[in-house]
Amino acid sequence: MAERLVVIGGDAAGMSAASQARRRRNADDLEIVAFERGRHTSYSACGIPYWVGGATSGPDALIARTADEHRARGIDVRLGTEVTAVDPAAGRVLARDAEGHEAWTSYDHLVLATGAVPVRPPIPGIGAPGVYGVQTLDDGEAVLRGLDRGGVRRAVVVGGGYIGVEMAEAMLLHGLDVTLVDRDDEPMSTLDPDMGRLVRKALEGLGVKVASGAAVREVLLGGDGRVRAVSTDDATYPADLVVLGLGVRPGTELAAAAGLPTGAYGGLLTDRSMRVRGTERIWAGGDCVEVWNLVSGTLQHIPLGTHANKHGRIIGTNIGGGYATFPGVVGTAVSKVCDVEIARTGLKESQARAAGLQYVSAVIESTSRAGYYPDAAAMTVKVLAERGTGRLLGLQIVGREGAAKRVDIGAVALTAGLTVDRMVDLDLGYAPPFSPVWDPVLIAARKAAEAVAKDLAREQAP
Ligand SMILES: Cc1cc2nc3c(=O)[nH]c(=O)nc-3n(C[C@H](O)[C@H](O)[C@H](O)COP(=O)(O)OP(=O)(O)OC[C@H]3O[C@@H](n4cnc5c(N)ncnc54)[C@H](O)[C@@H]3O)c2cc1C
Repeated sequence: MAERLVVIGGDAAGMSAASQARRRRNADDLEIVAFERGRHTSYSACGIPYWVGGATSGPDALIARTADEHRARGIDVRLGTEVTAVDPAAGRVLARDAEGHEAWTSYDHLVLATGAVPVRPPIPGIGAPGVYGVQTLDDGEAVLRGLDRGGVRRAVVVGGGYIGVEMAEAMLLHGLDVTLVDRDDEPMSTLDPDMGRLVRKALEGLGVKVASGAAVREVLLGGDGRVRAVSTDDATYPADLVVLGLGVRPGTELAAAAGLPTGAYGGLLTDRSMRVRGTERIWAGGDCVEVWNLVSGTLQHIPLGTHANKHGRIIGTNIGGGYATFPGVVGTAVSKVCDVEIARTGLKESQARAAGLQYVSAVIESTSRAGYYPDAAAMTVKVLAERGTGRLLGLQIVGREGAAKRVDIGAVALTAGLTVDRMVDLDLGYAPPFSPVWDPVLIAARKAAEAVAKDLAREQAP
């Protein structure tokens, strides 16, 4: 008799797991049932800011594989169906469909791919009409409908993380007067404050008003019950539309209620094969799990699509009878606001300190192309290297075209455990349209290597 795989969550991690398992095992051998409470499968939330901003079409273009396409591949997708309980002892899940019918489904393998839940602090007015999250394609449609209402001139984006800055761009592209309200001192708190300051300056240069160090206290409503302003302790910012980018936490209520292990960040804990710790046949991946940071040697919650897709593939391979493991992450992420590119990998200063690592740093200014080549654009690169050993700990870049993906050099170097002086030897490509003869990342690595050597010399001086 065929085994049954049940998947909870029909997006990146869940459907990658289902697809990979199906590729390896046919329907006679493995029945696959995927429960998704929403209306879509395999959709790209990453594309929402660009769809809302008009750079891409949507929502269909953001769906990599529809439910029908999955069904045609032998995956029984149940849309509009929410799993409300998991019973690991009996090996079954309880699901409620759109009509409210509830039924238990037994499993031989279970994949938890329930994603993340947007953070919503209990701020008065946060749920009012005109206030939008951007987590799902339905959210994207709602923002676009809000923009179409007419009379929308001012947008307040709450939260200065990458979703906040990407949505600030989308609002600018609609010709709105944009204010970004962020409780941190500088936007993009995944960067060090000195690099975040460059992002703030860039945002201000684009015409965004940045209210830093300002936590939102209330969303103020007009007589029609719709949003009219956002207030902090110090100021009130008029708004016809508010976008929330306040971060996410792992969506693990279901798993926790079933007694499955979660970590300090609330994410599920798995082994390297993405099997939930202490279980035999339950797997988890994507935004609902904690991941091992290879640089700090600690668990973290890093909710990114790039990890979710890999987790799903690994889970599907293992359920499919193969063998695959997830080694961990180095913390690489890229984003942009208009033509300003933002990138980071490894640890920022506060993360290095929290991991008990001492470091030296170097910050350099360079350009994206040879200085004499047309459109060479300024780029700032920061490198963190471990004191004594010179091991690369982190790389951050803020610049224009060609800046962000240079961070991948750092991701490779971190994965390989390279020291900054070894990085200087990397045989990177060069031609004037692509970089100066010394790539900006190599210049920063060289400066960091010098700082490591100087520091050592000081230490060894009698
Ligand atoms: C605006 C935005 C921009 C982003 N940009 C990037 C980017 O540029 N790069 C990047 O790497 N990442 C980006 N991300 C993050 C990326 O989208 C997520 O990391 C990725 O979608 C996680 O995939 P997942 O499968 O783990 O979870 P999700 O995509 O959240 O999918 C989980 C699914 O499970 C369903 N579900 C949850 N509970 C149940 C239940 N009980 N029963 C049934 N169904 C359930 C949900 O409806 C959901 O569809 C972005 C995210 C957003 C919101």
